[in-house]
Amino acid sequence: MEKQHTPVGRFAPTPSGRMHLGNVFAALLSYLSVKSRGGSWILRMEDLDTLRTKEEYAALLREDLRWLGLRWDEETEAQSRRSAVYDRYFELLREKDLIYPCYCTRSQLHNVNAPHLSDGTYVYPGTCRSLTMEQRLAQSRKPSWRVMVPDREFSFPDLVQGPYRENLAADCGDFVVRRADGVYVYQLAVTVDDGEAGVTEVCRGWDLLSSAPRQMYLQELFGFSHPAYAHIPMLMAPEGRRLSKRDQDLDMGALRQRLRPEQILGVLAQAAGIMPSADPISADELAAHFRWDQVQGREIVVNALAELY
Ligand code: GLU
Repeated sequence: MEKQHTPVGRFAPTPSGRMHLGNVFAALLSYLSVKSRGGSWILRMEDLDTLRTKEEYAALLREDLRWLGLRWDEETEAQSRRSAVYDRYFELLREKDLIYPCYCTRSQLHNVNAPHLSDGTYVYPGTCRSLTMEQRLAQSRKPSWRVMVPDREFSFPDLVQGPYRENLAADCGDFVVRRADGVYVYQLAVTVDDGEAGVTEVCRGWDLLSSAPRQMYLQELFGFSHPAYAHIPMLMAPEGRRLSKRDQDLDMGALRQRLRPEQILGVLAQAAGIMPSADPISADELAAHFRWDQVQGREIVVNALAELY
């Protein structure tokens, strides 16, 4: 009989503020997905950006998750402590001769007359790929490091967004894996962390959909298997406004003063299409009802928003 792998999911928040409703939604869906199939759920702090992130936010995040009844099985090491691990994978890319230093300035990159990517960057035209050693030595600024991408399509069936494909050379270009100040970028860190933790499914906002092909490419280079992907919709108010960190009255600090955890989860469960009504319900009760085909689209309206005020 074929061995059934226990699903391993993760919630990987950036502790740069109090959790808001959208973060709770991502945490809830990734939790329900693995818990509905007896899997385990990992928590990881993505605190590479040490200027924006704070340990006190990480502590509040843990406390809010506990209060919501979303219990993680393990918390893996925060990204800010793992640069020695990332160094090893970076060296692996160097041994494969797949990285090169890039001296382009921000303004040079923005002047590039190339298609725009959804995350605000441009298709990198490979300007620094073919610099000679002499040309490199003549540069005065510190370089960032880019990985060379293949002219090949990466495709996967997203559990929410459906089939997605991207040709890395045409749609993205060689991308940065380490910044000029030595900090590793999200794409490398997340691939290493998910791979080393044995994560089998990645659930996060659909704004990160176009990151998946870059991560799939790095997974191949590092010898990790591809996880399943679920890029979930953004939460919208009934009048069509996107709910965001700016809605401070919907952050966990404010919500906890007014509501019980089951009330918040009930509203989100109805919005996601998991339950027909917004009646209060616990995370563990919800797990019995969860299926990915209930969750659809890029935007979900929180119809029972008034119940949160
Ligand atoms: N750290 C990212 C965030 O808070 C999530 C990244 C991911 O799930 O891959 O939006």
